[in-house]
Amino acid sequence: METKNTTKLTEDDIELLDQMRLFPMMDKSSQKRLRERIDARRVESKDFDEVFGGTLSGNYGQMQQESQRQSLLRTMTDAVLHPIDTAKGVVGEALLKQRNKTPEILIHPNVKLARIAEPWDFEKEDGKELLSIIRKLGAALRSVDYGSRLGMAAPQIGISKRIFICQGAVCINPSYTVPKMTDMEDILEGCYSIPDKQIWKTKRYKRIFAKWQSVDGSEREFKLKGLDATVFQHEYDHLEGRCSCDIGVLYTPEEHLKVTK
Ligand SMILES: [Zn+2]
Repeated sequence: METKNTTKLTEDDIELLDQMRLFPMMDKSSQKRLRERIDARRVESKDFDEVFGGTLSGNYGQMQQESQRQSLLRTMTDAVLHPIDTAKGVVGEALLKQRNKTPEILIHPNVKLARIAEPWDFEKEDGKELLSIIRKLGAALRSVDYGSRLGMAAPQIGISKRIFICQGAVCINPSYTVPKMTDMEDILEGCYSIPDKQIWKTKRYKRIFAKWQSVDGSEREFKLKGLDATVFQHEYDHLEGRCSCDIGVLYTPEEHLKVTK
């Protein structure tokens, strides 16, 4: 999750690439002038040629209308100029659109869900990247149309970092210990990474001492019980590469009826 900053484009280049969006609306002579400018620039700058050629194969004929490829091109162009502050007009809009795109929630089984996630290093890693991960987690959680949206962990959207949202709190590098004499209880859990909205019965500690870091790196420590404790343990398991369906028993209402009869 890093932006390679090796390609050098000038502001004029960005403007030039952006103008291609208007290509189909231009009259013939303007199209010709733009084509000439772009071709000249491609000869001059390897970087420009790469960005241009790599996305549109240099084919002007394909510039029919606002296409996905063109918005991707503008996103790429802006990514080169990272960060977003430098983005202007439609370039910025395209990037925002891309950034706000709802991330895909991975479904079990998936190797990315089975990995042990890496701690977030506040010293070495980029704070903007952290915010972006948190935004993506929030967007993923908002995108689901069932359940209570109690939490979402970074591995569920393919990011192998020790970050999750639990009951609205952003928890970075979380951990927990179990107080003495704490019982476990059977919990019926759903998870957005488990297919078919299945419910799995898992064992969870009733109470835990939870610790994590906040977005600014400050330490948080809370005694959690009930639903808070359950969700925290559930999300923590995702960081350890475990889903409810790896540790629990599939629950079916029929089974439940048998038990309670
Ligand atoms: Zn889950």
